[in-house]
Amino acid sequence: MVVQPAGDVNTIGSVSTAVERRERLKEVYREASQCTKCALAETRTTVVFGAGNADADLMFVGEAPGANEDRGGLPFIGQAGRLLDRLLEEVGLARGDVFIANVLKCRPPGNRDPRPSEIETCRDYLHRQVELIEPKVICTLGNFSTKLLRDDPTGISRVHGQAEVKVLGRRAVTILPIYHPAAALYTPSMVDTLRADFALLPELLAAPEPPQPAPEVFAVPEPAEPEPDPTLASAAPLDGAPDPAAAAADGADSAAAEDLPAVHEQQLGLF
Ligand code: URA
Repeated sequence: MVVQPAGDVNTIGSVSTAVERRERLKEVYREASQCTKCALAETRTTVVFGAGNADADLMFVGEAPGANEDRGGLPFIGQAGRLLDRLLEEVGLARGDVFIANVLKCRPPGNRDPRPSEIETCRDYLHRQVELIEPKVICTLGNFSTKLLRDDPTGISRVHGQAEVKVLGRRAVTILPIYHPAAALYTPSMVDTLRADFALLPELLAAPEPPQPAPEVFAVPEPAEPEPDPTLASAAPLDGAPDPAAAAADGADSAAAEDLPAVHEQQLGLF
């Protein structure tokens, strides 16, 4: 028996390289961009997958795209986004340093609240983003992402600014709940509260990563040794003859590539 870590994780519980994570994130993006798992697919203009640095230490998770995001395909590009940019800048960060996503990838009509069934249907995309990006810190913006990622119904006003370590899927991350920047558009005094919570970020990012859970391991049977075929002198294909295994693999690759929409890197905003 050989004991291997589950999935594509290595022994420290992470997907092997940043390049690989970025490519896998593009695959999730392609899948999400065609998603019809809930009725929001009928009313959305664009799936807003999220954007930023696929190798970021800091992730932000908002609620759902609004009208601007639905049209533009990128998260937080309206007024709330401009405030987010300003607060980031004040702590020495820019969008290119972080990854920004939402609980829902599609706009609820009329900006109504996300429904529990929509959150449930969409959560797998967010979990896969977290697993691939491997952030050290996730800032939840507002009630919906805070309740989802803390897995607790306590509202944002009671927990904002209180960092805690949570295990999401296979990853331990520090969660820092923060008010949604849109709240400060209606209540300007809230900007100071947001600023105070943002000021916690540099220290959280500088701290060592929280201890990661042990990788899941499972046993796979060792492949049986193939019996040598005495009629074959060599396993290599004859000179000039196509290798059927390689041809099949090539065919599968090009068929898969044809089925998929091109990745609009600008929409994904990958840095
Ligand atoms: N509000 C959100 O929660 N997310 C966005 O992307 C924009 C506004």
